[in-house]
Amino acid sequence: MSYVDEVLARVKEKNASEPEFLQAVDEVLNSLRPVIEANEEMYKKQALLERICEPERQIKFRVPWVDDNGQVQVNTGYRVQFNSAIGPYKGGIRLHPSVNIGIIKFLGFEQIFKNSLTGLPIGGGKGGSDFDPKGKSDNEIMRFCQSFMTELCRHIGADTDVPAGDIGTGAREIGYMFGQYKRIRNLYEGVLTGKGLTFGGSLARTEATGYGLLYLTNEMLKTNGIELAGKTVCVSGAGNVAIYATQKAQQLGAKVVTVSDSTGWIYDAEGIDVELLREVKEVKRARLDAYAAARPSAVYHDKKAEGSNVWETKCDIALPCATQNELGIEDAKKLVANGVIAVAEGANMPTTLEATEYFQKNGVLFAPGKAANAGGVATSALEMSQNSERLSWSFEEVDTKLQGIMVNIFRNLDAAAKKYGFEGNYVVGANIAGFEKVATAMLAQGVV
Ligand code: NDP
Repeated sequence: MSYVDEVLARVKEKNASEPEFLQAVDEVLNSLRPVIEANEEMYKKQALLERICEPERQIKFRVPWVDDNGQVQVNTGYRVQFNSAIGPYKGGIRLHPSVNIGIIKFLGFEQIFKNSLTGLPIGGGKGGSDFDPKGKSDNEIMRFCQSFMTELCRHIGADTDVPAGDIGTGAREIGYMFGQYKRIRNLYEGVLTGKGLTFGGSLARTEATGYGLLYLTNEMLKTNGIELAGKTVCVSGAGNVAIYATQKAQQLGAKVVTVSDSTGWIYDAEGIDVELLREVKEVKRARLDAYAAARPSAVYHDKKAEGSNVWETKCDIALPCATQNELGIEDAKKLVANGVIAVAEGANMPTTLEATEYFQKNGVLFAPGKAANAGGVATSALEMSQNSERLSWSFEEVDTKLQGIMVNIFRNLDAAAKKYGFEGNYVVGANIAGFEKVATAMLAQGVV
């Protein structure tokens, strides 16, 4: 049995109840085979893969809080500090009822390679809670965030672990968490990113993941002799990543015709009106049917009633920006039959392994999330630099750096894929390019 197969078998046995984590490990280790095989004896002796698949530390804690009726509620909080070989742990906090240790581990594992790909000194981590922010009052959100941070603050710090936003954690939640951290630790430091602009946040951080997704997609298309301008794009999701991906795609001359949320989706023949979408989702925090009600060119589809989703829409480019495993094999078949040219993941692992392979077999350009959505964490690292310098850079300065980083990520993964004989396979390229730096750093630091 090869070293990769041995480790895969052991990881499966040890983490049997964590399907998303196993899916992520399976994808990464399988695509690393060429690199591992070239150094098999040494990596095995050093147990490098076993170490990379085992978090350095995982913290699980009780989060009690009082709702508006005076009733005590209890949620579970998590922080997985996965790998600090190349820098302090860095990764978002997800607040969603589906959160469990397996989800946080899959996200933390992906984050190791993503953060490495950015070229910046940040390790991999992730956190969250099964708290559902939907339908909660502002005060309930604040009480939850304060309780969550009351425990988390012992484990993080500007040079230790720097969390950020993710699903369900936006500027409001980061603000409440930062306030509580500062109060308890008596430290004004860059311990969280995605902060408000008046207290250490970076310009362009809000836009960064969506914009970065388009910068990388554009570079991938250009490298393959294709123009983004004039293309029809399907986006899923209607949150932070989806909104700013839509905005940048339209600025670059493409037309985005769909967005979705957890209950339904919009087809807008005239192209999504980003300002209206922001008003509905960011200001009113309403469902997407409110978008359709305000825009005659838009049609709303109820997901449950129709059993449909955005992927049945004919498009040139698909950008899944909602959540993991939202694009399966049947969706991939529809997209390919409708002539899709490229798929780039704005969300983390939104495409199932089967669907990814189907795209690749059918000649669809495919950019994996750990590369395509790395603009968010890269700009978070730029926020950390500004906090350390106690300076703020202009929007243009941050955006220009972000563009440079995304183009660089694409070039590095393209080169890594070519070097190992997998030209055009950007999944293999991203995993190898991300892995090499982490592996070198881990080996240099000894058995820790
Ligand atoms: P948001 O919470 O802002 O938005 C998430 C969107 O996806 C919402 O429209 C939400 O619908 C929808 N959604 C969430 N869960 C589900 C589900 N189970 N089924 C269907 N729809 C769902 O999150 P973000 O935009 O920040 O994150 C989206 C993805 O991008 C995640 O995978 C995240 O890990 C990834 N990502 C985010 C980064 C960032 O900087 N924010 C950085 C890198 C990756 P509804 O409105 O109904 O809740």
